[in-house]
Amino acid sequence: MPTTVNAYSATAADQPLRPTTIDRRDPGPHDVVIDIAYAGICHSDIHTARAEWGQPNYPVVPGHEIAGTVAVVGDEVSRYQVGDRVGVGCFVDSCRECDACRAGDEQYCERGMTGTYNAVGRDGQPTHGGYSTAIVVDENYVCRIPEGLDLDVAAPLLCAGITLYSPLRHWNAGPGKKVAIIGLGGLGHVGVKIAHAMGAEVTVLSQSLKKMEDGLRLGADHYYATSDPDTFRLLRNEFDLIVNTVSANLDMSKFLGMLAINGTLVELGLPEHPIEIPAGAVTRNRRSFAGSMIGGIAETQEMLDFCAEHGIGAEIEVIDAEAINEAYDRVVASDVRYRFVIDTATL
Ligand code: NAP
Ligand code: ZN
Ligand code: ZN
Repeated sequence: MPTTVNAYSATAADQPLRPTTIDRRDPGPHDVVIDIAYAGICHSDIHTARAEWGQPNYPVVPGHEIAGTVAVVGDEVSRYQVGDRVGVGCFVDSCRECDACRAGDEQYCERGMTGTYNAVGRDGQPTHGGYSTAIVVDENYVCRIPEGLDLDVAAPLLCAGITLYSPLRHWNAGPGKKVAIIGLGGLGHVGVKIAHAMGAEVTVLSQSLKKMEDGLRLGADHYYATSDPDTFRLLRNEFDLIVNTVSANLDMSKFLGMLAINGTLVELGLPEHPIEIPAGAVTRNRRSFAGSMIGGIAETQEMLDFCAEHGIGAEIEVIDAEAINEAYDRVVASDVRYRFVIDTATL
């Protein structure tokens, strides 16, 4: 007998999210039932709910920054016990057999990972995300939230945290490396903290200087406004690594111009329209334009352990469920400091 739980769902691109109920399957032998305490609001939730990436499979219950407590474990679960503090990120399954899955890069599963929402699970049922009071997930797609990280500030790490940690590790952010982060939003602010903890020299490239004090407090060494044309002149050929977290389309050639020889710009934002790059912007300085998408389960656990060790949580504003639609508008207006987190007790 499936269990019915409270949730919030989007039913059309131009409609607000509304309260609803959804069914969660009975736990199978390898499943854990998680009582969700907090769910972060990622800009990807908004892109999906508002059909900016194409028509989703409505009704959509978004939420892939999930933190909570294990309530029930299946008979063969070995990694978790009732009462454990756990998190779930952007996917809840993958094929487990392809090269990517075997390498721990389940996010790049050749058969496609199963998204935490707006996907179809092994049972043929649509997946529904964290804007709900409970979720049932195979234990292999669950991470442990270390002691010392509160659940509310940990929730956004499950997407924003790993999305920044993975490329910062891959492109060796660390001492002696000049790293710039474009956009001080949900992803960007966690990126500043992580890159700083890795020992890199960190620069924030924001639309204005409004959030400069915060950026420096979070660990940035430098802070520039991209609305000031001088920024692009001053920082020409400056960075080893630039990480773009912006949810809208930017003039990428201007940002590529900030890369030093052999520098890489990693695209993380997923704007609605294609990105245009003049060839000369990358041939000069032997530059690379790259991308990265979240991270695998083992790497997500590594990120959580790293964040606990360095005292890194997200800067959050906890909201009641009824404030979700207003929060969406504020995220789109870059008016978020720096992640909205839903208290799921209010669903
Ligand atoms: P967010 O909290 O809205 O942050 C995006 C930031 O980009 C804003 O705070 C703002 O920073 C800047 N920005 C927004 N609109 C802009 C514009 N028109 N021009 C210039 N800058 C602008 O969003 P998020 O949750 O961090 O997500 C960011 C993007 O990453 C989204 O597209 C999301 O779908 C994508 N994403 C990708 C992955 C992945 O695996 N690759 C994972 C999660 C999310 P300033 O105010 O500082 O300028
Ligand atoms: Zn996300
Ligand atoms: Zn696979």
